[in-house]
Amino acid sequence: MKMDMIIRRARISDEQPLMDIGIANGRIVAIEEAIETQIDQEIDAEGRVALPGFVEPHLHLEKALLHRRMPARFGTLDEAIRVTGILKSKQQKEDVLDRSRQVLDMAIKNGTVVIRAHPDVDPIQGLIGVETAIQLKDEYRDLLDLQIVAFPQEGWLKTSGVRELMEQALEMGADVVGGCPYNELSWDDTRSHIDKVFDLAQKRDLDVDMHVDFADDTADQRFATTEYIARKTIQTGYQGRVALGHVTSLASLKPDILKPIIDLLREADIHIVTLPATDTYLGGRRDEINPRRGLTPVRALHGGGVNVAYSSNNIRNAFTPFGKADPLQIGNLLAHLIQFGTPEHQADILKMSTSNAARAVGISEDYGLAVGKQADLMILDTNIVADALLDLPSRSWVLKRGRITVVTKHESKICRGCGHAHPQSKEAGARPGIQDRYHQI
Ligand SMILES: [Zn+2]
Repeated sequence: MKMDMIIRRARISDEQPLMDIGIANGRIVAIEEAIETQIDQEIDAEGRVALPGFVEPHLHLEKALLHRRMPARFGTLDEAIRVTGILKSKQQKEDVLDRSRQVLDMAIKNGTVVIRAHPDVDPIQGLIGVETAIQLKDEYRDLLDLQIVAFPQEGWLKTSGVRELMEQALEMGADVVGGCPYNELSWDDTRSHIDKVFDLAQKRDLDVDMHVDFADDTADQRFATTEYIARKTIQTGYQGRVALGHVTSLASLKPDILKPIIDLLREADIHIVTLPATDTYLGGRRDEINPRRGLTPVRALHGGGVNVAYSSNNIRNAFTPFGKADPLQIGNLLAHLIQFGTPEHQADILKMSTSNAARAVGISEDYGLAVGKQADLMILDTNIVADALLDLPSRSWVLKRGRITVVTKHESKICRGCGHAHPQSKEAGARPGIQDRYHQI
């Protein structure tokens, strides 16, 4: 069989011997102990771990890296909305593009092959987030796939002109209908917001991805929409096509109240995307003792058979002061927060940013480290799959549709006071990859 690339000696499972991975026409065509064919384009993984590339199902590009513009002073959600609102009203296209590219580059270097971006669609920043994301989708098409959710952050009924903007965003090329039903003035409006999202999605046969129930508890019904959305999903035949981000208020429900909701979410095949960096930073702020973790009940959802994924959400802004678009970093944080430390749980965390996230964004048919799937994968600089979440290793190689997009070489040596300066190499190619934006490989 003719192959374009062979990866030799990759660790794809801790229970199996090292494997060779053969790639042709952007797809994985063979995974065998020893592929006999020899070709020019070969990577020797030398026993390093291979995983399918990461999927970030929930990321805000145009609001990223605003942390130095107007630093938050208190770190509350109210302040984050206010500060970001001011900055949003001043968005400039070139600046948005520049910050978005920085985030995309970070993500690519960290092994991410698919991002679902959620640009705001509202009268404050208009369609600049959608417009720039569409431009970047094309600009980055060889490096990653960018899906675009039209996200009505400022509400739908509360803010006039949003309906027209949403229609326009989809007309321009946004792929998914977003929603933010808690940002309405009443429960009736919240319900109507959800109905409008589904109407628009059905009309255009698009998937739904909403920000919902982002609160510490369900005292206010606008933050208790999951059940309504699950019923709506089943009613409209949208099973498998709805993803919900945050969903933190579910964590406040007693098990006997939570259980039927989880059963309904599973029946509706709704994907829950937890956003631990933001949710823990903003959640439980009013708790004076034992502050809540502010996360959706990942353990109960996962245990109840609901597809759970996680994502970075924001990168360095008033909602989320940290982040480098690295799913391993967020996965490590999540593992600590939900106490997922057994080997099985650690493997589950890795799935939440790979296969589960792929399901959440509707690409699972073509995704995974298996023959016939698209060759979107990464080689991590560690030798045991189970160590990926512990070592947070460099992504030695990243491949998108079978082509190398990133090469990372890091080597640290302990120097026991020999007195030499050990200058870093300046020669060309010493820091290969996309470090200098685009290295021609
Ligand atoms: Zn978000």
